[in-house]
Amino acid sequence: MVGGGAKRAVCYDVRLSRPNSTAILHNFDLHNHSTASDGLDSPAALMALAAKGQCDAVALTDHDTTAGLLEARNAASSLGLRLIDGVEISVTWPTAGTNSDTRPTTLHVLGLNIDPTNNALRDGLATIREGRSNRAMRMDASLREAGVVGIGDAAFAIAKNPDMISRTHFARAIVDRGIAKSTGAVFEKYLTTGKPGYVAHQWATLGDAVGWIRAANGVAVLAHPGRYRLPSDEMHALLTEFKQLGGAAIEIVTGSHQAKHTREFTAYAKSFGFLGSRGADYHGEGEGPYRPGELPPLPDSITPVWSLFA
Ligand code: AMP
Ligand code: MN
Ligand code: MN
Ligand code: MN
Repeated sequence: MVGGGAKRAVCYDVRLSRPNSTAILHNFDLHNHSTASDGLDSPAALMALAAKGQCDAVALTDHDTTAGLLEARNAASSLGLRLIDGVEISVTWPTAGTNSDTRPTTLHVLGLNIDPTNNALRDGLATIREGRSNRAMRMDASLREAGVVGIGDAAFAIAKNPDMISRTHFARAIVDRGIAKSTGAVFEKYLTTGKPGYVAHQWATLGDAVGWIRAANGVAVLAHPGRYRLPSDEMHALLTEFKQLGGAAIEIVTGSHQAKHTREFTAYAKSFGFLGSRGADYHGEGEGPYRPGELPPLPDSITPVWSLFA
């Protein structure tokens, strides 16, 4: 666990078997955030943490932006660390199971080993980001109606990249105001579906997100599937659609997954023929269970997504 005098997590090595070779040990952490989106560490500081966590390779996967990758690349090369260029794309999925109570679900799709200069990806991400400032103003108004006043300005003041204003910045601003003790508590009370500060928003379609990633020669990975709380028929529908669109992997070991999720999505990966991914989803000290590189290994029975990265 991270923070507050908690014991530092053990650093695991991850076994990668290659045909005709002995097993090679790797510590790949393929999901992390910087101040280019809603992380607390600059891209360079994040690279230093990844080196400290003994990562062999680290991906920077900021939400809907690749703006941190250049700084990360410079820092990684001076540390002798391998950087995988990444992004985490926000998606609105209409929810296609047999559940009659259909409602849109927000999904996150990681693009790994992308070419950040690709025009289709760049233009697509710019379109998603355009909606964020407008959503932030609507969130501010909605919170004001609930008696929490002036949080929009405070959130923009915290955000290092104003293009990428997110609910996380609102949560931190509300904690700073002393209204709640933790960002998790703020999400529960104000920022999730049906709560006073939540406003619906239309992100990219799943097809667009996977298409942009593939256009940029990247690998599409469904992030933290355990977080979506989809009934099994809807999870099947999602994984079927993701596979058809060209999705290659699902995240199995990540900050918001418990051991039961790792077991559940190991089984899904095998039955759908997905590779498995592993990433801390680190946002900053004290905001999640794992620092970069300091998370459990992928199960031995799973082929890691990094087997695709020569
Ligand atoms: P946004 O893309 O602006 O809607 O913000 C989504 C981000 O909010 C996620 O990437 C997480 O970093 C954060 N988040 C979502 N749900 C929670 C939660 N329950 N507790 C803490 N952070 C959360
Ligand atoms: Mn986030
Ligand atoms: Mn996410
Ligand atoms: Mn993330």
